[in-house]
Amino acid sequence: MLTQKTLDVSEYEDFSSHERVLCFEDESVGLKAIIAIHNTNLGSSFGGCRVYNYERFDDAVTDALRLSKGMTYKSALAGLPFGGGKAVILADPRTQKTADTMRAFGEAVETLSGAYITAEDVGSTDEDMITISKATSYVSGLPKKEGVLGGNPSPYTAEGVFYGMRAGLKTVFGADTFDGVHVVVKGLGSVGYDLCRALDKAGAKLTVTDINQVVLEKAQREFKNITLVDPTSAHEVACDVLAPCALGGSINVRTLPDIKAKLIAGAANNQLQNKLIEQKLHERNIVYAPDYVVNAGGIIAVGYEYFGYNDINPFPYSLTENTLEAHISRIGSTTQSILDRSVEDNHPTGAIADQMAEDLFLRYGGVLRVASGKS
Ligand code: NAD
Repeated sequence: MLTQKTLDVSEYEDFSSHERVLCFEDESVGLKAIIAIHNTNLGSSFGGCRVYNYERFDDAVTDALRLSKGMTYKSALAGLPFGGGKAVILADPRTQKTADTMRAFGEAVETLSGAYITAEDVGSTDEDMITISKATSYVSGLPKKEGVLGGNPSPYTAEGVFYGMRAGLKTVFGADTFDGVHVVVKGLGSVGYDLCRALDKAGAKLTVTDINQVVLEKAQREFKNITLVDPTSAHEVACDVLAPCALGGSINVRTLPDIKAKLIAGAANNQLQNKLIEQKLHERNIVYAPDYVVNAGGIIAVGYEYFGYNDINPFPYSLTENTLEAHISRIGSTTQSILDRSVEDNHPTGAIADQMAEDLFLRYGGVLRVASGKS
């Protein structure tokens, strides 16, 4: 039987006025899940479902608190009528996750009546989303359906990073052209590879790295102006732009002193080890395009998919491939205003982005709000 209890998380370091944090359990199917709802001022909380074998229950709570807060900021600056939420299922995705577990998780989501909408994340798959959808409609990341936009978010994420990077070029070089600009891309996965394709087309010079040799060989065959570099020394390359597109934390105390790029703009989440690194980048005049701003293309696409599936339109225009593209292109102008304000206020870009997001979801909360779930 599915049980639900509210967790008292006020003592956790990562607690940040979260609205609700709940623990759901159904022993019969091995479900133990936490759903953290950070803020719903702008609409239903939206965020992926992570399936991970946490060592301690507290680690799972901390992850849910941190990630749900991040989603509030990301959606606000992406101009989406969503708040921030996240679910974590405490299980090994390879050995403990079953269809019954995911269906019971769907039932847990359904009990929240749309306060939380789930999607894919580390450890969950598009197949899991289909299973979840049997128990709730508050799910996105479903198979492509006739007349519904979205689908695989990675190409949209790459597109958004491209726009964000272009805004950065304007700040750093005064011109937003990629012609001859030297970009180091670390990680040629779903997002990084598509980003390389766009950069190559725009005339950039590429230096790339990955731990996967196959993808590097493919890139060498496909792109004109490309050099390979070892993953451990990619950050040291003398270049114009560094684009972290692999794992988080690659800009840290160890790598920072050797970074020669003038701009950092990439897809990876949580690129900077901590706030101190953000301050140091600012002091060294290295422009950092905040990760959660430039990598929001995917959530915009997944959001449009959710609207399509549920016949909702929160915007004063039709939902078409063109309006979706236009929405993603606004990542460029949002990034530009953050970088401009950073220069004006002489303040790190990440802090400016956070402030702008808070202005949206705290001060003007409710403006973009739409009814969640079915219209
Ligand atoms: P992915 O798993 O498809 O690609 C990651 C790539 O990085 C792989 O090719 C992998 O081999 C490579 N890699 C791993 N460790 C490396 C290392 N030490 N050095 C060099 N390369 C390494 O992931 P993705 O979907 O392309 O996402 C990339 C990053 O962007 C992740 O941090 C993800 O959280 C973030 N992100 C992705 C999306 C999306 O739509 N996919 C949206 C927002 C943020």
